[in-house]
Amino acid sequence: MKKIRTRFAPSPTGYMHIGNLRTALYEYLIAKHDQGDFILRIEDTDQEREVEGAVEMIYQVMASTGLVYDEGPDKPGEVGPYIQSQRLPLYKQYADQLVDLGGAHYCFCKEEDIQKERQNAGEAFKYDDPCKHLSIEEARARIAAGESYVVRQSIPERGVTSFEDEVYGHIEVENAILDEGVLLKSDGYPTYNFANIVDDHLMGITHVVRGNEYLSSTPKYNLIYQAFGWDIPTYVHVPPVMKDEHHKLSKRNGDASFQDLVEKGFLKEAILNYIALLGWAPKTEEEIYSLKELEKEFTIDRISKSPAIFDIEKLKWMNGMYIRQLPLETFHEYALPYYQKALTRECDLLEISRCLQPRVTMLSEIEEMVDFIEQSLPFDAQLYTSKKMKTTPENSLEALKWIIADMEALEDYHDDEALMNIMLECAKKHEVKNGRVMWPIRVALSYKAFTPGGAVEIAHILGKEESLRRLHESIKQLVFWMKEEHSA
Ligand code: GLU
Repeated sequence: MKKIRTRFAPSPTGYMHIGNLRTALYEYLIAKHDQGDFILRIEDTDQEREVEGAVEMIYQVMASTGLVYDEGPDKPGEVGPYIQSQRLPLYKQYADQLVDLGGAHYCFCKEEDIQKERQNAGEAFKYDDPCKHLSIEEARARIAAGESYVVRQSIPERGVTSFEDEVYGHIEVENAILDEGVLLKSDGYPTYNFANIVDDHLMGITHVVRGNEYLSSTPKYNLIYQAFGWDIPTYVHVPPVMKDEHHKLSKRNGDASFQDLVEKGFLKEAILNYIALLGWAPKTEEEIYSLKELEKEFTIDRISKSPAIFDIEKLKWMNGMYIRQLPLETFHEYALPYYQKALTRECDLLEISRCLQPRVTMLSEIEEMVDFIEQSLPFDAQLYTSKKMKTTPENSLEALKWIIADMEALEDYHDDEALMNIMLECAKKHEVKNGRVMWPIRVALSYKAFTPGGAVEIAHILGKEESLRRLHESIKQLVFWMKEEHSA
């Protein structure tokens, strides 16, 4: 069997969209499933749409996702260059050859005139190019004399062109409706419609994975392959990634790009895992796959043709699963930059990580989760009320007074067991449920209804001095509040 070669061929026009990254991933997986080659090619022939920095962004994303390519601009193989703007002489040479083979012709019409015709014709416009009838010699003489020209595809008037797509099955199109588009522009740049064919052929690409918006143009490409007598690659067109039933996910509409998701605190591994499942179904119910496992499991026949909806909640769930699987040290490393943003107080950061790891779904939640550590939040008596724990502000004050002496007596706040014992003993002594003591302590220390960790963990994180300061402060606040309540 021929070695599988796939390529990811992004245009450097901005951020890495989720749909783009999914295409890259599928190309990578198809190649790696069979020990094939995965190639990166930069399609920068549309200079007007090019965005500065976008090429660097592509390299960065590829490096950070671990989609390692075997050949690419910065990893030359035998079929380079891998940047289309560096291949212009090749396109010119093949365009001339295609003209000789009857698959294309030189065209001298002015673009403004064609536009005018198009406007007058309305929607069903197909340009009937008079230049088609020029002889090749005549046309080449005009080119030699310096006239500006494009190379335009020549399409048979009759007949049908058909092909098999791995996802969409048999596709058939009447040649009569295919338009004779420009292959080589007057500035010598090819259009996508030509460059993709020349490059895929010269680079030995066996499988082409791309968005289904290219399905309707593929018959045109096949006519060119046929004119050259080249092998047609296996086509894998994939449905779009949707935001909801009716709208595609798109950066232009403010939907998240890969970089946005990373910034929000999603792990790259979780993003890759999730987008693998956007349009591909594994054989089992299992949903958590490492890249290595995906390489083993991924097969084209399980790609679906129905559009997949990007569900951020599902991604959050998956991200949480990934976070919990991390070794504590790795999670701690990921969390550190967020602590640095949120905390200046000296505290046991590793203990914070230990408390947070089971609770965090996105790293970006960390800042809010630790806000109470930096400074006391505003007092709110209602936080002391818990129906479940049967606490009220009044009986919370009582519990805090019960425990304060023991909290003062304890030396080592890193001793979780000792902290726990004090609280349990207190509850036992006063014959109340543990929650009647633990809830007030937790609120007194954090001023929050929900915290990453219970009373013991928070006392540990804050340390003795700060914990006692807050307990005393909270007692004072509750005393004051009760006076106000009763005088009202
Ligand atoms: N440069 C094209 C794009 O970004 C690539 C399409 C393809 O993979 O052939 O849409």
